[in-house]
Amino acid sequence: MTFQDLNIIDPILKALKAEGYTNPTPIQEQSIPILLDGRDLLGCAQTGTGKTAAFAIPILQRLYLSKEGQKKKGNRRVKVLVVTPTRELAIQIGDSFSSYGRFTGLRNTVIFGGVKQGAQTQALRRGVDIIVATPGRLLDLMNQGYVDLRDVEYSILDEADHMLDMGFIHDIRKIVEKLPEKRQSLFFSATMSPEIVQLSGKILGNPEKVTIQPDQTTAERVEQAIYFVSKQEKADLLLHLLKTEKMPSVLVFSRTKHGADKIARKVRNAGFSSDAIHGNKAQNARQKTLNKFKDGKIKVLIATDIAARGIDVDDLSHVINYNMPNVSETYVHRIGRTGRANASGIAISFCDMEELSDLKGIQKLIKQKIPVISEHPYVLEGAEALAEAGKGSSSKKKKQNNNRSSNFRRGGGGGGGRNGSSNGGGGGGYWKKRRGTSSSSKPKRRQD
Ligand code: AMP
Repeated sequence: MTFQDLNIIDPILKALKAEGYTNPTPIQEQSIPILLDGRDLLGCAQTGTGKTAAFAIPILQRLYLSKEGQKKKGNRRVKVLVVTPTRELAIQIGDSFSSYGRFTGLRNTVIFGGVKQGAQTQALRRGVDIIVATPGRLLDLMNQGYVDLRDVEYSILDEADHMLDMGFIHDIRKIVEKLPEKRQSLFFSATMSPEIVQLSGKILGNPEKVTIQPDQTTAERVEQAIYFVSKQEKADLLLHLLKTEKMPSVLVFSRTKHGADKIARKVRNAGFSSDAIHGNKAQNARQKTLNKFKDGKIKVLIATDIAARGIDVDDLSHVINYNMPNVSETYVHRIGRTGRANASGIAISFCDMEELSDLKGIQKLIKQKIPVISEHPYVLEGAEALAEAGKGSSSKKKKQNNNRSSNFRRGGGGGGGRNGSSNGGGGGGYWKKRRGTSSSSKPKRRQD
């Protein structure tokens, strides 16, 4: 399947070619025809699947082909509204509209809080076709009269589950109230809790549904490994890995903002370039840090989940879960920061005793047994055995073992070579190689 097969028009095809996109991803294949047809869409998908292009491309196309879209002079009216939870995501979505729409003459602007509003209101005054916004600042500018949503024809609610987690529900309701009845509505969420289903029901008419399972995408593409380690020794383990492994670009997830700062300090003190991004930092500082990371000037970026949403770094080599996520889906989001599009990546998780149940939930979700690295100086004795014991009945165990070995085979390395001893270490390319060498050999990437 090609973008041409999806009837994408030339100005957009040209832009996609320039982006290096050859084939649509599964969510694009499924969503683009629905959206070009003018229907509402409920998408269960996360970042990393190509979701942004799945909605940006058909909307740009419909707009370009419409009479309104052809009006380049005079007052532009806001015809597309994308609402997304974080500033980083908003910027990224805005960039995507700019890239895919560069030959369409359509204009977008990005609105988010934490910075002065002057530049944003100026852009609005000049006139835009597309607004990408976080809820708080958008409402603020609506209340001040800078944003008029009367002419919106397309509304997109992105990462709805995160917006609810972040307490944006009231803002969203207020924004939706101002939208015209007659419009095409899109609603994306990585998870579908009853609250999300209820909210989507209020926003969407009779939507088509598209589901891209995380375990079909990210979890199979990314090499994963578990290190059992005590809470107290996690920092030492991180430094050990940074010193002994080739890790050109590492994103480390910390559960707390304070923790993120602390880890960044320790990493810096050990001589590696590092910084932290989280909600307590000003937007400008966050963006500056992110740019440095993208440019390779910072090797190790420490982030909280919220701040890391939408981080899109092409050459991210490693994701490290310094703390295991409580919510299993978050694990998939996190490891999806590496292995973007079709690239492979490595995701390492530090698991202490208190996090064993988190690990269990994650393995259940991704239907994989994550290989354990047992050869490192900070092994937490007994944790692996406890993790194994927590797997329930023996028949269940057998099934998981089968999953594991098939996963290893896909990984292009030996087939699940752990023989029950705690020194086994797993079987894929990365960990297999590590067992044989203690130095900084380049981890072998998966071939598929
Ligand atoms: P998203 O899920 O929208 O965050 O996209 C994830 C990444 O995939 C981004 O870096 C996109 O630039 C990239 N991407 C999206 N669609 C395609 C495609 N059809 N081919 C190659 N890369 C893509």
